[in-house]
Amino acid sequence: MGIALVWNHPEVTLVLSGMSKMDHVVENVAYAEHSQPRNLNEGELALIRRVRDAYLSLSPTSCTACRYCMPCPNGVEIPRVFSLYNEAMIYGGRHQAKENVPERQNVQARTAC
Ligand code: SF4
Repeated sequence: MGIALVWNHPEVTLVLSGMSKMDHVVENVAYAEHSQPRNLNEGELALIRRVRDAYLSLSPTSCTACRYCMPCPNGVEIPRVFSLYNEAMIYGGRHQAKENVPERQNVQARTAC
């Protein structure tokens, strides 16, 4: 349903989708041929909003990994750290997430940003 949501926006004229197999290309082209703006009904949109809200309520940061903040002048892999933090909060395993962050990436590496 993710790609359907993108096509649902009238301002979208091109969708870039990660495709690694010919099957993916065929499937996406077929889907695009049948997609059009405002294709989703109110029930589908309500479901998407509920899923989005549930995800956001569990995720403490809203980092999209756009990497605009990179490179960090202090060498912190900011999107990676936020991703680990979100995963730890959503799925548990805070201790394991902390072990996956190299010492230099730890919060103590921050200065005043
Ligand atoms: S923290 Fe960095 S990678 Fe994440 S949304 Fe902000 S600018 Fe983008």
